[in-house]
Amino acid sequence: MRVSFFGASREVTGANFLLETAGKKLLLDCGIFQGSREAESLNYDKFSFDPKYLDFVIVGHAHLDHTGRLPKLVKEGFSGKIFATAPTKELAELVLKDNYKLMSEEAQRDNHKPLYGLEDLARTMQLFELLSWNETVEISPGLKITFRNAGHILGSSTCLVASEGKKIIYTSDLGNKPATLLNPPDIYDEADYLICESTYGGRIHEDSAKRMQLLSEIISSTIAKNSVLMIPSFAIERTQELLHDIDKFCDLEGCTKPAFFLDSPLASKATAVFKKYPDYLGKKLKSENPDSDFFGLGRIKITSTVEESKAINDYSNPKVIIAGSGMMNGGRILHHMRRYLPNSDNTLLIVGYLARGSLGRRIIDGQKEIRIFGETIKVNAKVKKIGSYSAHADMPQIIEWISIIKSLKKVFIIHGESDQSLALAKTLKEQLNLEALAPQKGESYEL
Ligand SMILES: [Zn+2]
Repeated sequence: MRVSFFGASREVTGANFLLETAGKKLLLDCGIFQGSREAESLNYDKFSFDPKYLDFVIVGHAHLDHTGRLPKLVKEGFSGKIFATAPTKELAELVLKDNYKLMSEEAQRDNHKPLYGLEDLARTMQLFELLSWNETVEISPGLKITFRNAGHILGSSTCLVASEGKKIIYTSDLGNKPATLLNPPDIYDEADYLICESTYGGRIHEDSAKRMQLLSEIISSTIAKNSVLMIPSFAIERTQELLHDIDKFCDLEGCTKPAFFLDSPLASKATAVFKKYPDYLGKKLKSENPDSDFFGLGRIKITSTVEESKAINDYSNPKVIIAGSGMMNGGRILHHMRRYLPNSDNTLLIVGYLARGSLGRRIIDGQKEIRIFGETIKVNAKVKKIGSYSAHADMPQIIEWISIIKSLKKVFIIHGESDQSLALAKTLKEQLNLEALAPQKGESYEL
């Protein structure tokens, strides 16, 4: 049995790991590289294996950094099965279609071919085989897989692979606790090897109890200053969590102001998928909202067309605008940022992970002048951050989750910038006496 690390190794994006066992080749996630232009150009490189000879892909969850290169894989000859849960498949189709649009516009602008075509995307969707959590399936003789709730986004799964008398767990991404919308990640009591994410492998999140308080303060100050609050948000999970918290805030405050806008067609469609799969939502959420109106949609103005998006400007202040993309590398948020960032009464609220090289990362690192659509824009607005909106487990949560797994021989730390991955490896050695390492991209290990 052999495992190779071809992406998300000493970095966060581009998840792509190959497991060779029982005569089969099994790929764990197939994401795109995101962040800087250099990172994105890696997506056009050849795969480090021949997609034609790959048998299966396991997709942990729908985020693009775990699914974005699936159509490229199919374009280059993959015709095996792609295993995922039903919500993962639906959300993946939404994000892949959305990304196709962005990517083909970019390709046209830069005068090259897009990574894949719509026909590759359609064929990709046909290869999906749906699995439920806690269902063990023998995908080929002697090779079994089991998905369990990862608590990261709707439908997200960790995966246990059992083959050649060994057990390997792949986390894909592991969720944060307590999550507003989902149950906490399921645990495992035993395995030989673990491939574990480390996005926040060296950090401790802010206390999540403070989150509502911070959000309330920021919205209240937007009302007091009669200004604009921009929230660049990831379409899946983060946006639905925000909608849920805004609904709670409005219920508590009985507020009639500000006007709330969800200016992201992708987030609106994703919200519909959340409503379609209540079985995948958390027990607490359902018990606290027996009417199933988890997202307060009656209160939010959903803008779908470009004209509706532009018309947000005509609404009087105060207003709150949730729009993508989360890392501010594209999407409708840029139009709002161009208009509202120069005013010091306004606020830009960061609620998600910002990859190195992304526009959002430069702003949070303090850059005071940025370029949007070829124009120089002054960042005079307040830039605030609520860390506890993270959909990823932090270091203490990862350690606690791993500490329950008995008989681990080795832990491979992936999906984190070097400092985070190495910090987690060090803590695992010190606290749990485990052999833990952060592989470099391209490395292979015999198990
Ligand atoms: Zn993710």
